[in-house]
Amino acid sequence: MKLLKKHLVPIIVLLIFETVAVTLWLTKNNLFYLFNFSYIGLSLSLGILLYTKNYRHARRVVQLLVGLYMLVYLGLICRENMQIEGFWYYLFTGVFEAATIHYAVAKIFGPLIFGRGWCGYACWTAMVLDFLPYKTPVRPRKKLGWIRYVTFAASLIFVSALFLARVGAIERIMFWAFLIGNAAYYGIGIALAFLFKDNRAFCKYVCPITVFLKPMSYFSLFRIRCNKDKCVSCGKCKRVCPMDVDVTDNSRKRKNGTECILCMECVKNCPKDAL
Ligand code: SF4
Ligand code: SF4
Ligand code: SF4
Repeated sequence: MKLLKKHLVPIIVLLIFETVAVTLWLTKNNLFYLFNFSYIGLSLSLGILLYTKNYRHARRVVQLLVGLYMLVYLGLICRENMQIEGFWYYLFTGVFEAATIHYAVAKIFGPLIFGRGWCGYACWTAMVLDFLPYKTPVRPRKKLGWIRYVTFAASLIFVSALFLARVGAIERIMFWAFLIGNAAYYGIGIALAFLFKDNRAFCKYVCPITVFLKPMSYFSLFRIRCNKDKCVSCGKCKRVCPMDVDVTDNSRKRKNGTECILCMECVKNCPKDAL
């Protein structure tokens, strides 16, 4: 009983994912969903378990387990375009399958519960960017967030144009779009990280998916909160935050509140256990 209580959070996460896995498996009559959501649930539970054991690289383990699975298995082997172009493509064809379900769960409705957990634990772009040397930004944030709307519109226009022009072999184009899109994301992401000395510059200014993630995560059920009675305003949490979040402000309107990727660096570094 004591053991069960100690590991309650990873067990709850596993149960939630198993519920989704079994529901989708039975309703869609497709074993893939059972495997897919069970794997992701197990990876996340393992990460939470490692975190509770104070393993320093717990988040990176989850990032690699989930990110590589998505990129290599789903993207390259199964040829499922999980980029935003893939989402538009499957949405336009009316296919409610892997890519659309993935967006619905991880990036559109899921953030109402777990905020931008996707960005901290599963994204295969950030999985690589987080290996770069600038883990916390050294300079103030730039006013370049508008770029995300340009990339968002470009992805939508690209896929709409393919449909309007009735281009053939669209599945093959989507696979190539996945390869080229990913190469571009990595190239731009790494260049920006070095240019701005900030690993997460791509996430802050360019990533089109944040157009979904930011407004939805505003309402997130799970948020980092500050216990004002314990906080001594030392500012350490803000210094270690990769996303410039003012985590000592508990309001939903806090500075860069919709940027929090739940990486837990602030929690780990707070000397007063106030977070
Ligand atoms: S902002 Fe975009 S690139 Fe960054 S972690 Fe989130 S989904 Fe990935
Ligand atoms: S690190 Fe902890 S004590 Fe210091 S400002 Fe942040 S919440 Fe307060
Ligand atoms: S350091 Fe804290 S506030 Fe900043 S992104 Fe990580 S969890 Fe969110």
